Amino acid sequence: MSIVQKAGRFAPSPSGDMHIGNLRTATLAWIWARQTGRNFVIRIEDIDRVKPGAAERQLADLKTIGITWDQEPLFQSTRHSAHLAAIETLNSKGLLFECFCSRKEIAEASSAPHSRPGFYPGTCAQLSAAERAEKRAILAAVGRKPALRLRPQVAEWTVQDELFGEVTEQIDQVVLQRGDGTLAYNLVVVVDDAWQQVDQVVRADDLLFSAPAQSYIAHELGYAPFTYAHVPLVLAPSGARLAKRDGAVTLQDLLAQGWSVSQVVSKISASLGYEASNLMELLEIFDRQDFIRKPWVFTPPTS
Ligand code: GLU
Repeated sequence: MSIVQKAGRFAPSPSGDMHIGNLRTATLAWIWARQTGRNFVIRIEDIDRVKPGAAERQLADLKTIGITWDQEPLFQSTRHSAHLAAIETLNSKGLLFECFCSRKEIAEASSAPHSRPGFYPGTCAQLSAAERAEKRAILAAVGRKPALRLRPQVAEWTVQDELFGEVTEQIDQVVLQRGDGTLAYNLVVVVDDAWQQVDQVVRADDLLFSAPAQSYIAHELGYAPFTYAHVPLVLAPSGARLAKRDGAVTLQDLLAQGWSVSQVVSKISASLGYEASNLMELLEIFDRQDFIRKPWVFTPPTS
């Protein structure tokens, strides 16, 4: 019998260069996986906001700070047929319904990883076959198709988070496929995690509240539950989440300011309460049980 090697992962969207906060989150995901005897895999989530060249630079930056991974990085855009197969599975279980609401309403209630949109009011959930046919024809006349939304069979779902404990959320009728055919983050993230043998999800805590919906979708697709650890975001001195407009925040910016790679790693280590100038050293001494769940405020150097 072969034993499947489970994995942790880091899944950046290639929408630009990563800042030191993203590198810190990647570091934590890598430490969690390595300390628990897991593989570590990378997935480039390139079905949405893609900036040319960003994925390659992200991989290079991860490598430069000393993060190692066990398989070729997976580009999510290569997985379209698997994503569609998951839609089919959910549909055959009666877990989807067509939604004819306007694009604006769909966008508001849809799949951006970092938003927590208002709940869908259920407008299209109970339409009759005749009503659906009529609405489908109206959309088709303008070259559009309905979106597909989740019809959850439960009101709420609970996940276990190593840092937050039990997290329970109501499950919304989220869009899983938009009218233009685009598949939603909340679906593809679980399909690809399962495919990459990921059972441990460590990521920034702005995604904490998406975890129960994702875990419920995983359950309906027959996947084993994931364990989670949502780690704090890195903030700018203003208190807002760190962003590129805050100054020298990417690895390349910091190197251009005269920092060495070990100084960047030392800074990340110090933010976690440790003195270490390379990641192997940090991996040795980092104590997951003693993790301080407090945002780190990063003050970019000025030249
Ligand atoms: N691709 C998402 C991001 O860069 C992260 C998704 C995840 O870790 O589940 O924000």
